Amino acid sequence: MAKWVYLFKEGKADMKNLLGGKGANLAEMTNLGLPIPQGFTVTTEACTDYYNSGKKITDEIKGQIFDALKILEDQQGKKFGDTENPLLVSVRSGARASMPGMMDTILNLGLTDVAVEGFAKKTGNPRFAYDSYRRFIQMFSDVVMEISKAKFERVLDEIKEKKGVKFDTELSADDLKDVIAQYKALYKAEKGTEFPQEPTEQLIEAVTAVFRSWDNPRAIYYRRMNDIPGDWGTAVNVQAMVFGNMGDTSGTGVAFTRNPSTGEAKIYGEYLINAQGEDVVAGIRTPQPITKLEEDMPEAYKEFMRIATLLENHYKDMQDMEFTIEDKTLYFLQTRNGKRTAPAALQIACDLVDEGKITKEQAIARIEAKSLDQLLHPGFDVKALKAAAPVGKALPASPGAAAGKVYFTAEDAKNHHEKGERVILVRLETSPEDIEGMHAAEGILTVRGGMTSHAAVVARGMGTACVSGCGEIVIDEAAKVFTIAGQTVKEGDYISLDGSTGNIYIGDIPTVEAAISGNFDRIMTWADEIRTLKVRTNADTPADAANAVKFGAEGIGLCRTEHMFFEGDRIHKIRKMILSKTVEAREEALNQLIPFQKGDFKGLYEVMEGRPVTIRFLDPPLHEFVPTEDDDIAALAKDMGLSVEEVKATCDSLHEFNPMMGHRGCRLAVTYPEIAKMQTRAVMEAAIEVKNEKGFDIVPEIMIPLVGEKRELKFVKDIVVETAEAVKKEKGSDIEYHIGTMIEIPRAALLADEIAEEAEFFSFGTNDLTQMTFGFSRDDAGKFLDAYYTNKIFESDPFARLDQDGVGQLVKMASEKGRKTRPNIKLGICGEHGGDPSTVEFCHNVGLNYVSCSPFRVPIARLAAAQAVLNQK
Ligand code: ADP
Ligand code: MG
Ligand code: MG
Repeated sequence: MAKWVYLFKEGKADMKNLLGGKGANLAEMTNLGLPIPQGFTVTTEACTDYYNSGKKITDEIKGQIFDALKILEDQQGKKFGDTENPLLVSVRSGARASMPGMMDTILNLGLTDVAVEGFAKKTGNPRFAYDSYRRFIQMFSDVVMEISKAKFERVLDEIKEKKGVKFDTELSADDLKDVIAQYKALYKAEKGTEFPQEPTEQLIEAVTAVFRSWDNPRAIYYRRMNDIPGDWGTAVNVQAMVFGNMGDTSGTGVAFTRNPSTGEAKIYGEYLINAQGEDVVAGIRTPQPITKLEEDMPEAYKEFMRIATLLENHYKDMQDMEFTIEDKTLYFLQTRNGKRTAPAALQIACDLVDEGKITKEQAIARIEAKSLDQLLHPGFDVKALKAAAPVGKALPASPGAAAGKVYFTAEDAKNHHEKGERVILVRLETSPEDIEGMHAAEGILTVRGGMTSHAAVVARGMGTACVSGCGEIVIDEAAKVFTIAGQTVKEGDYISLDGSTGNIYIGDIPTVEAAISGNFDRIMTWADEIRTLKVRTNADTPADAANAVKFGAEGIGLCRTEHMFFEGDRIHKIRKMILSKTVEAREEALNQLIPFQKGDFKGLYEVMEGRPVTIRFLDPPLHEFVPTEDDDIAALAKDMGLSVEEVKATCDSLHEFNPMMGHRGCRLAVTYPEIAKMQTRAVMEAAIEVKNEKGFDIVPEIMIPLVGEKRELKFVKDIVVETAEAVKKEKGSDIEYHIGTMIEIPRAALLADEIAEEAEFFSFGTNDLTQMTFGFSRDDAGKFLDAYYTNKIFESDPFARLDQDGVGQLVKMASEKGRKTRPNIKLGICGEHGGDPSTVEFCHNVGLNYVSCSPFRVPIARLAAAQAVLNQK
């Protein structure tokens, strides 16, 4: 019989896959002899089994749950549903990777109408007993039965109002009895049945709800954003309750062993007296800083610090801990490696290496590559910031500067973001439903909530600026306005947020690029020592290229030449070329373009100082260049001595039904060899001149796009070689050069061995390769991909994260075939995927020589490439 349930004392930290992160760490802490309320974990495999069994928990698993419960009852000397001394438990989700806020926890399970009386008597504290019961009814109804939490909150608010009190702690036992009666009536009205009075039924329903929550839309979205596979499943932890809501010698809190925003090596956290569970993070009352605990309860504080230090040393990483104090006795409820901002991640990694606690390799392995993005994100322009006066200040919950238009719902934020606006999401408080809107926002501002509120935690994870807990704001979410410092801000008005200071400004303050700290260079140097994969950049301008070099780019993997034609007067010249009726006229127009192209290439070669530069020849369909405005058409007609009608007719004739599969890429050079000739001349002359002028060792790399057949490549290559040799002769140069191709059509991958006979290098154009392999257009896929995620057909966007199973197979096969023909063929990737960490790892494993990505993602790729080496070990 399979083992589906583990007591805490049966597990350990390295059993995360089976027990989930929370369960494995609870087990580890139990074995360390720490004060952990005991319990058991229902495994992730049981979750998978639940889905495989048609969303049912089998009798075998139920049996094992009840067996473990029996052991827990004996340990605690309490009985489930007992009228004298009832056992209460929490039911907590816990996946392998932490998914904060994605799954829901139920506290105080086991209370019933009779058990609550026993509980009241046993504790001698009826107020506390009824408070626990009303919390349980509310949580169970919300999480398990999906009755809106707001309905319960309304009941509570009404009673508070009736009693003239502000906080729920001020309600008496009798008031709470009243709350319970109304809650139960509400439950019955909603569900048509009484609130369940059988604790084992409550338990199985709760476990089922946790399993079910693995597949709620928020969880699916979170997994997609964080590369978490859908088949992992979540574990469920059932744990004896301890109570922070027993009075003024009790409380609950969360803390980090180091500052999660800055990395400073100092305890950091918050707690609330007389509170339970999520009270601290829900921002209902304002929590106290953890250091205040030293005054409130010195003994508990000392013990807390001892354990916090022990845990950090044990896990050798910054810990994020949850604790509860029940009548002066401290319990730990959770520890995990804490989420942190990118600056904090680097600071902590460097500090731990300096403290001799971890190696450089461990430091590298730990930093989340994607998070480096944050470091490169903007701050405010210093001068503009000085001129601006903040209208308010609240908690600096997640660093970075943001400015944009105010929207009050996640949906509005998302919609306006999609229209291209910069948006700031302003909410009373955020909840997991808001995740997509939070993602779309440049910045997030909340009225309620502390440094560990949902908004703060999620924003830090995303690297989005966030200011939280701004009580000065009076907000009317329905009317879409708020006031602060006597000023009114409406939907669509600009505000600016400084997530590092907590300052709030009215207006649109310009932002500037980030400055990079010394930690960044240290970490990047360590990564560079480890990695074997080279990192290049996709850049078309000297400015972008220079930026990328600053971020560590070792070359240009893709220079798109078409962008160069849109500037100034050039577009007119290329239009003339397109509309030319004869080869001579076309050559004449192209000759006028050579100086521009050559100038562009010289600029790139100068900035790159001899690093490799791959220049891709003209790729897009020609109709993208033709004029659509009447003025432009008229000007062109005049210049070319044609009638407006003639020009229009030619432009129309370029229209294609499916331009992505149309007259583009190397097909242009096949029909108009003059274009390839012109571009070859520009590349070769630029390279020779910069080589002569600056002494850089330049070896031009010319890349022919959209090849699907060897003879097609050969045809274009012959033109390139002929022109290049002519230029060399003219200039008396013996410069070397390479000619290669994009592999972006499935047929090219299939016949890569043949194509390698002509190509000296391959660069995988995974944008086109993805769209052609899937058979859907990258410009249109957005319309239906959402339905693919919600229906669990796809887990991630194949244009962001390489589809390793399908497209990846083509990459792998083409690499092998290419190498067979030409053992020293150079292999790279230049699609958008080149900056995605999972794809970088794939590229490393397949044995590519380099990845090429946008300048800002170069550091991510460097780190991911080092991590790929470490993962292989
Ligand atoms: P999350 O993963 O969202 O943090 P948790 O399962 O950690 O959810 O539960 C949330 C909070 O509930 C914890 O921080 C803790 O304060 C409280 N909690 C959970 N289990 C217990 C328990 N057995 N006794 C007391 N409080 C608990
Ligand atoms: Mg927790
Ligand atoms: Mg392409």
